[in-house]
Amino acid sequence: MSKTIAIVEDERPIAEMIARTLEEHGFRTKSYSSGGAFLATLRQEAPSLCLLDLGLPDGDGMNLLRRIREQADTPVIILSARQHPSDRIVGLELGADDYVIKPFDPREVVARVRSVLRRFEGESSGEAPVAAVARFAGWRFDAGSMTLTSPQGADVELSAAEARLLQAFLEAPQRVLTRDFLLTKAGSEESFDRAIDVRISRLRKKLQADEGKKGLIRTVYGAGYLFASTVEWTPS
Ligand code: CA
Repeated sequence: MSKTIAIVEDERPIAEMIARTLEEHGFRTKSYSSGGAFLATLRQEAPSLCLLDLGLPDGDGMNLLRRIREQADTPVIILSARQHPSDRIVGLELGADDYVIKPFDPREVVARVRSVLRRFEGESSGEAPVAAVARFAGWRFDAGSMTLTSPQGADVELSAAEARLLQAFLEAPQRVLTRDFLLTKAGSEESFDRAIDVRISRLRKKLQADEGKKGLIRTVYGAGYLFASTVEWTPS
């Protein structure tokens, strides 16, 4: 059965473009031009995933995101025209699963939808995630066995928390990730900033291929961290 994606977007050409592309890729779509219209239907028929525009006519998208989160655990991908990174950060902290910055290629949206759905279904069914291998800057990370191999072919030992942290970076490369987001992803019980800083510094040391070379995990002051490499995921 095909999955239904809710598109909450007041700009009709954008909504139609996304709907068309998603439908070409086997999804069903439902479009809503206001947050209120979407919330009214959410309880009766929760979609598989919601694409949420932050600039809606009937209120702040962040507020709407909060209200969606109160009512359902539907995964949410933010569509943001705003260039300011803090909006994306706040969105992720409010529980959005991912975000896409406008203007975007609708195929990018399809890829993000698939990736979030995969992650969400893996979590809610309790099944092990599909084993996959990430390659970046000569490194190789096997998400199934949580093993990291250096460009020189050496196995690098990771703790389970470090492996989860690395995986969070590899799933969202070249984007700013907040400490809170990373803490959640690393599955930490210590919910304070320092815990993530310590873990990041350990992970950085392990990822140091060449002395003096700029590291793969960059600090974005006042915002969080960014993984500075492209990542290629393939099934293992
Ligand atoms: Ca809008």
